[in-house]
Amino acid sequence: MDTYMEIRAAGDNAQAALYAAQTAVCTLAEQLSVTDPQSEIAAVNRANGKPTALSEDTAALLRAGLHMGALTDGALNLAIYPLTRAWGFTTGSYAIPSNEMIAALRPLTDPANITLDGSTVTLADGMMLDTGAVAKGYAGDRAIEILRKYDISSAILSLGGNILTLGTKPDGSDWVVGITDPFAPDRELCSVHVRDRAVVTSGDYERYFIADDGTRYCHILDPATGAPAQNGLSSVTVIGAQGLLCDALSTALFVMGKDRAVRFWREKQSECACPFEMILVTSDDKLLCTEGIAEVLTITRDIPLEVIRRAEER
Ligand code: AMP
Ligand code: MG
Repeated sequence: MDTYMEIRAAGDNAQAALYAAQTAVCTLAEQLSVTDPQSEIAAVNRANGKPTALSEDTAALLRAGLHMGALTDGALNLAIYPLTRAWGFTTGSYAIPSNEMIAALRPLTDPANITLDGSTVTLADGMMLDTGAVAKGYAGDRAIEILRKYDISSAILSLGGNILTLGTKPDGSDWVVGITDPFAPDRELCSVHVRDRAVVTSGDYERYFIADDGTRYCHILDPATGAPAQNGLSSVTVIGAQGLLCDALSTALFVMGKDRAVRFWREKQSECACPFEMILVTSDDKLLCTEGIAEVLTITRDIPLEVIRRAEER
């Protein structure tokens, strides 16, 4: 998954639990890798229109991702790989594809041409999956599930931008999760107090390249344009009980931009796997958070804050 993992757990079985959780995450990373030719996703991506049998995990991840893709009106699109590859984001060989190339690739990213029948997937010829937007969240959920099976009641897991907490800190207090300042990624912009929550961030500072003309291109693509999303946000953090949902939404809400993201939060909660809160940092350096997280938010530097209420203020 091209990132670091850190898991901390407290309790009698902690050592064995950590080992089992780590093993599960590494196995998933191998299955879901888009660049490792041995992975399940790579097998799907070279099937040329033929059906491919998936493991239970990959099928579950894909099913959830397709659901979230539909719910977000295509802002999340797990079939985006032909485009992420053309931009070089998965390989590091960055390039700006021509408009003609983007126009030619976009039809190959239509999720309507993915058929998932039980655990067998068929993509139209030329289509390819990229599970990068949801894999860490899913793997985090699996790790937490395993820790629970080992009777761990206090743990924290970090997988790149994804933090998952289980219970409270060993002393019974909340976990405090820092949120990166997109304008100074080695610093924290704010932090939240949580327990039993995933805190997942997508940001334009995480992976990007700067073209010869100075334009910065980030790794999250807007499926509607085939180009890096530039909809006024620098980062989106989603907080909820399920890592997969938070990971899917952090990417999708980043693509949507502020107004659509706020509307989604107000209107679509009931269609999501669990309720969620969000923290947005705009490209012009403003902080917004939803009302359910405002009370446990601590801001670290001077930045204007707007609290988004459930009912629109008139
Ligand atoms: P995240 O860090 O969770 O926001 O995921 C970003 C990664 O997901 C990128 O590095 C791409 O591999 C992939 N990706 C980029 N844009 C999209 C999109 N609109 N929908 C789904 N996956 C995407
Ligand atoms: Mg994501």
